[in-house]
Amino acid sequence: MPANHRKVTIIGSGPAGHTAAVYLARANLEPTMFEGMMANGFAPGGQLTTTTDVENYPGFPEGILGGELMDKMRAQSERFNTEIITETIAKVDLSQRPFKLWREGNEDESEPTDTADALVFSTGASAKRMFLPGEDKYWQNGISACAVCDGAVPIFRNKPLAVIGGGDSAAEEAIYLTKYASHVFVLVRRDKLRASKVMADRLLRHPKVTVLFNTQATATHGDGSLLNALTIKDSNTGEEKSLAVNGLFYAIGHEPATSLVKGQVELDSEGYIVTQPGSSLTSVEGFFAAGDVQDKRYRQAITSAGSGCMAALDAERWLSEHELEGEVPAASPQ
Ligand code: FAD
Ligand code: NDP
Repeated sequence: MPANHRKVTIIGSGPAGHTAAVYLARANLEPTMFEGMMANGFAPGGQLTTTTDVENYPGFPEGILGGELMDKMRAQSERFNTEIITETIAKVDLSQRPFKLWREGNEDESEPTDTADALVFSTGASAKRMFLPGEDKYWQNGISACAVCDGAVPIFRNKPLAVIGGGDSAAEEAIYLTKYASHVFVLVRRDKLRASKVMADRLLRHPKVTVLFNTQATATHGDGSLLNALTIKDSNTGEEKSLAVNGLFYAIGHEPATSLVKGQVELDSEGYIVTQPGSSLTSVEGFFAAGDVQDKRYRQAITSAGSGCMAALDAERWLSEHELEGEVPAASPQ
């Protein structure tokens, strides 16, 4: 297949990618988006396609289903003539411009399938899960990996809840959940927290929180439709017992989808793309990152969308500056 050259290409189709598409398309940059084909385990549209009600995305006072929100974002990208390709990018070469891209199935070819002067990289991330016995049944029916997203739903109101993890996320999520829960148990597998001192102190002092050290969950249980208990195990003695909780929130870390660009652009120690503060600029000129792939702190649809806007504006500015200087080859017709 001859290389299709484009001025700007977006890889990833979550809120970050679609927001970038709308801004780039409205700036007449004719973006192309690779939305993926179950890339990173997600359907096109990204993480929100795996959830039900989204109640914290502005503009939808009654809430909106995650899949429906992503369908609307896709329709908006198409309305301004974004070319959306339902394929996964399997390999990229950022060592020279134009950047080279290979679609899945073509990664062993010497010639790329596509090239681009600028790239917006918005491949997202996924929350780590433990896949405990029973988890398949109760995932999203009591088990979640996002307290901010799901904590307010009625099944968790005034109920005992558990958070697994001992880092800053676990501390933050547990404290957040105290607004809704009758009590929050934090299950920490070791004898100490990994969280920063300030977060750890806040957690340990909270009257509605009990931190259970040296404790691991080994199974989830419920009434067939909703979670109502965990089996927990003492890491030292191996002794098992039941913990009655109506919610389980994983906070054991996330996996950013950066394997495509590892070794080609600066990543932090946890694999997230490093962006210059307050921008989408990365260590590679012309390569802009947006959304959860560069954000381990907020990880929300609205913050991802906001950073997609930043990436589009940064790319637009970069392209126009470099075109003026004659550095970026003009886009050739496909
Ligand atoms: P993602 O949504 O992760 O999407 C990335 C997309 O890129 C995926 O579709 C993937 O298939 C595609 N992709 C990856 N690699 C490639 C490739 N190589 N080629 C082509 N395509 C590729 N946030 C909220 O604000 N409110 C909520 O209520 C909420 N609920 C949530 C519930 C659940 C169960 C989960 C998991 C998350 C929830 N979040 C919520 C978080 C929110 O979904 C994320 O913050 C947001 O989706 C991140 O957007 P993103 O654009 O960075 O990427
Ligand atoms: P971390 O990697 O920092 O912590 C993960 C926690 O989960 C650790 O306590 C780890 O245990 C535990 N864990 C991992 N796997 C398992 C498992 N299979 N079973 C039980 N426990 C497990 O991830 P975070 O998401 O908390 O934080 C990521 C980064 O984001 C950090 O740099 C953090 O500082 C930052 N962050 C900052 C915030 C803030 O400043 N307010 C808020 C949220 C995140 P162990 O310690 O034994 O390895």
